[in-house]
Amino acid sequence: MTGPARGQVHVRPRLRAVGALLLPDWLAITIGSHVWAWRPLNDRELRHELAHVSQWRSHGAGLLLLYLVAALRTWRAGGDWYRDNPFERAALAAERSDGAG
Ligand SMILES: [Zn+2]
Repeated sequence: MTGPARGQVHVRPRLRAVGALLLPDWLAITIGSHVWAWRPLNDRELRHELAHVSQWRSHGAGLLLLYLVAALRTWRAGGDWYRDNPFERAALAAERSDGAG
């Protein structure tokens, strides 16, 4: 499984307020191969979410637990549970990987 991850993007403006309860400046969340966003994503943002699709493909539903454990460890180590989370850092790297953006 080395091909690029494929995801289905769902844009739902009403999700913005819901997600903001957890993360004020959130844009999208990926569950399995489905990307939920409150507005259309640009190429760079899409690369980020497709990296999460790959993570789901690798870990299955276990990703939820792995992500939460990583978030907790990051927070306990004094980092930001979101930005310093290894799963987010990998997605950020993917986001920046294509020179076109
Ligand atoms: Zn992310």
